[in-house]
Amino acid sequence: MMHDPNCLFCKIIAGQIPSKKVYEDEHIFAFHDIAPWAPVHFLMVPKLHIASMAQLAPEHAALMGHLMTLAPRLALEQGCSPYPDGGYRIVTNTGSEAGQVVHHLHVHVMGGPRPWLKG
Ligand code: AMP
Ligand code: ZN
Repeated sequence: MMHDPNCLFCKIIAGQIPSKKVYEDEHIFAFHDIAPWAPVHFLMVPKLHIASMAQLAPEHAALMGHLMTLAPRLALEQGCSPYPDGGYRIVTNTGSEAGQVVHHLHVHVMGGPRPWLKG
């Protein structure tokens, strides 16, 4: 399914629910997490509705490669300090036991000076 009408992140991508946009292109949307754990905390999502990493198929390789290679650039643009003394954490929760609450694949990018609220 391209979009799930009941999906929170599909609604954010479509602009039906407001968000603080970090980045957008044809395939990827990125926005600030509403409850940040760290001074920098944004989410990157494919515009295509994929429920989680568990649904990935070989046809998604280019999309996910694009997302992961974009993450370091956006992290620096959002204020994370450079590797190796700075850096950022990239996390994808997959399934309820892992803490996934929103079932539209998303990558958390967290960074900035310590202390963090969590993590
Ligand atoms: P996860 O637990 O990995 O599914 O992460 C879902 C994330 O989405 C959490 O960190 C939430 O704070 C975040 N979140 C939930 N609703 C919104 C929203 N409307 N705008 C931005 N982030 C959100
Ligand atoms: Zn969705």
